[in-house]
Amino acid sequence: MRVIPLGPEASVGDFARYPGCRLAVTCAMCGWTKGYSPERIIHRLRELKAGGYTTPLAVVARRVQWPCPGCHRLKWRANLAWPPELTEAEAKRLAARARN
Ligand SMILES: [Zn+2]
Repeated sequence: MRVIPLGPEASVGDFARYPGCRLAVTCAMCGWTKGYSPERIIHRLRELKAGGYTTPLAVVARRVQWPCPGCHRLKWRANLAWPPELTEAEAKRLAARARN
């Protein structure tokens, strides 16, 4: 997945500005990564009364409490990222559609 460069204050809700993006949880130790639907993460945070749209991505990363399937350590990063199957042209098309 191609990580979308965002500042340290980036929150899950920022996904709305990047139509088609995923929330990527990446192991800081070995690079193992898994993509999630940002909407589902927000839904889950709300269900747990643990946050929502404004929850920083860093907080989401800290909430991941399972060890990495690749290296069995526990140090996660959360980013918004483009899935590999989404081309740049497609991303632009989705963004344009979201604006209209
Ligand atoms: Zn790992």
